[in-house]
Amino acid sequence: MPQIVHGKPVRISKRVQRITAPNQGAMTGPGTNSYIVGTEELALIDPGPCIESHIDAMLKATASRLKWILVTHTHRDHSPAALPIAQATGAKLVGNIIPNDGFQDETFQGATSLKNDELISNKEFSIRALLTPGHVSNHICYLVEEDKILITGDHMMQGSTVVIVPPAGSMKDYIDSLKRMQTYDVNYVAPGHGDLIEEPKREIMRLIDHRLKREKKVHNALTNAREATIDELVPVVYDDVDPALHKWAAMSLHAHLIKLEIEQSVAKNGKYWIIA
Ligand SMILES: [Zn+2]
Repeated sequence: MPQIVHGKPVRISKRVQRITAPNQGAMTGPGTNSYIVGTEELALIDPGPCIESHIDAMLKATASRLKWILVTHTHRDHSPAALPIAQATGAKLVGNIIPNDGFQDETFQGATSLKNDELISNKEFSIRALLTPGHVSNHICYLVEEDKILITGDHMMQGSTVVIVPPAGSMKDYIDSLKRMQTYDVNYVAPGHGDLIEEPKREIMRLIDHRLKREKKVHNALTNAREATIDELVPVVYDDVDPALHKWAAMSLHAHLIKLEIEQSVAKNGKYWIIA
């Protein structure tokens, strides 16, 4: 497995290289991964944050051969470098845009939008867009078909659980998107944060199982409490998670409750949640 390094490209398959941005942190792991696809005409997926050294590394690796800049979504650790790179290279922006909920990068404008299963291709590669709402509603994963590598942005990460922030994020959509990913032919998952993930089908099953177990814990906690606020439920439902991460856990918990509400097994009464 290639090591995570900052500031220079690492080859992860015949057609794909990875450059990791130096924005390490609790939510970004070793930093945001930017991927370069192709050896002649190139596509750049998730240029990441506007950090000069990272932008320089991407420009150096792509030179004048960059044709497309694709984003998995427009959170601020994934898309802000798109604008300066597009300005420097003339490459075309591609990705879906949603109204700003306080978490979106508003500099990402004028992009060509994508439909599910749409292809971006040239004589060397085909990149298939898989619309994967869940982490956020405009999320897209990109399958480099020839190399069977699925670039997953924040839909799947290595070593940490994806935060779902309603209303742009949806737990129901997230699980449905994971199930749909199982229908594609994939050898490796290349996440937005962390190293390559082997055995994608097994990992996807593990993720679905993990979410459904958490959902059961939410339902059990609410059954015991009879009624509870999100803040009261977090320490019970996430008793296995570092309290420093509970403010993020509260968002995913809200996403679980909304899913259960859609399925009519819980209901909301003011700020209290109850079993339906
Ligand atoms: Zn994100």
